[in-house]
Amino acid sequence: MAATLFISDLHLDDDRPQITDLFLDFLRGEARSAPALYILGDLFESWIGDDDDAPLGLRVQDALAELAAHGVAVYFMAGNRDFLVGPRFAARSGLTLLTDPTRVELGGVPTLLMHGDTLCTDDTEYLKFRRLVRDPAWQQNFLAQPLPARRAFAAQARVQSREHTGTTRADIMDVTDAAVRAALQEHGATRLIHGHTHRPARHRVELGDRSAERIVLGDWYEQGSVLRVDGEHVELAGLS
Ligand code: MN
Repeated sequence: MAATLFISDLHLDDDRPQITDLFLDFLRGEARSAPALYILGDLFESWIGDDDDAPLGLRVQDALAELAAHGVAVYFMAGNRDFLVGPRFAARSGLTLLTDPTRVELGGVPTLLMHGDTLCTDDTEYLKFRRLVRDPAWQQNFLAQPLPARRAFAAQARVQSREHTGTTRADIMDVTDAAVRAALQEHGATRLIHGHTHRPARHRVELGDRSAERIVLGDWYEQGSVLRVDGEHVELAGLS
């Protein structure tokens, strides 16, 4: 059987057309033989609503739908950039939306899937912003605005995010040990897969009664990054 695939943090954007092409090639290539593809957030650099008719979003939805039509189960969990992806996007793309966190059994391994931003519990400034934009009333108000106004807001949010990333200590923007342990314990998982921090790696986590693994997916800035899980065989690799 072919491997189940996990990706995140593609940050698809008109500024990096080569990464969009790499992703579309991946969907038409390797992904077609996978039983399932999990996208764990930040597929897009920004997403201002499912009614957005910008070409990039439409191309991606078409390509995902094509993959789904080949019988691949496609799952999407929102990240901190594309948390406004909703049911209309899911229906058009033929994918299933996942809440964060979601627990799945993967080859008998209880596996917890997250985007990863909620594990960065030292970044209180970001978590405050997250609470605001995840509030249904805020979202309803935002989505009621015309597309140009939403585009302007997204551009501004990107600038602020870059400033925050540039002026905040790197360790503050990483996950905390306590949050990782709590998530694994609460869900009885022995494997955690997440993105967000753009620090691809495999970490062993000792939980006292058992040991677990935390796998961090890589971003798609310079090249692609994919995690392949096929039974016992787990591989985190670059794509170019
Ligand atoms: Mn993120």
